[in-house]
Amino acid sequence: MECISMKSEESAIVMRRVEYGDFDVILTLFSRSKGKFSAIAKNARKSRRRFSGRLELFSVLHPDCSQPKSGGMPVLQEVQLMEPFENLRTDFIRMGYAAYWCEILCLWLEEGAAQPEVYDLLESMLRELHLGKGKPEVLSLLYQLRFLTLSGLAPGLDVCGGCEAPMFDVRAGRIRFDYGRSRILCGTCSPLARIFSMAPGTVKTLCWLQERKDQGAGRMQFSREAALEGLFFLESFISFHMGRDFRSLKYLQSVRRTAGISPEIISFPVCRLKA
Ligand SMILES: [Zn+2]
Repeated sequence: MECISMKSEESAIVMRRVEYGDFDVILTLFSRSKGKFSAIAKNARKSRRRFSGRLELFSVLHPDCSQPKSGGMPVLQEVQLMEPFENLRTDFIRMGYAAYWCEILCLWLEEGAAQPEVYDLLESMLRELHLGKGKPEVLSLLYQLRFLTLSGLAPGLDVCGGCEAPMFDVRAGRIRFDYGRSRILCGTCSPLARIFSMAPGTVKTLCWLQERKDQGAGRMQFSREAALEGLFFLESFISFHMGRDFRSLKYLQSVRRTAGISPEIISFPVCRLKA
């Protein structure tokens, strides 16, 4: 078994935190150089002094771990808290987005495989969300589009998946998207099922964002309708392709409803897409 000995100056993000037994805490961490791994913080809930407030969800740590000779999970020895990102745990909406972003990665990342670009994406987007730079909905739009591009799952939004007509020539009222083919469809290429439809302005917004690499896009202004429709499209697209109804997404949807962020164009449930 590969030994995970983390130098304490390496950053890692806490993606999941589970209380274990009476005293311990198990963290799922995402490190820039080591990828995803779990570590146990022994007696973290018994002795508050040792890790006091430094094992919180979504924070960036410099963990110092040791690997037991007998094998098993690395043990956290010391932790330096680098960025607490505390606003991500006090604001329900921001907490919902941070949890959703991390849940996607917990599922997608392979244990111990470095994904430095994905790490940089998560860390920078959590920071922007914490600092309130840009609306959470727009940040989530960007996060999902960039994740899909980095993971090779980006939806094809530029040409029709049937006849390859360019999207900008498609004059139908709403542009349809075929989940099975991961592509938009023009009015004449009519599939039977697994369809989501979007306003042309939404598809143009998504196309434009797919081309953008800079971090400033979170502060761009979009029409509320395009941003929300794009957001709900990406959430159902990711759930469809990863075969998962994300628990954090259900939470997010309920806090959004409470906050009045729930237009009529909400995507239909994933179970209907799979039918
Ligand atoms: Zn076509």
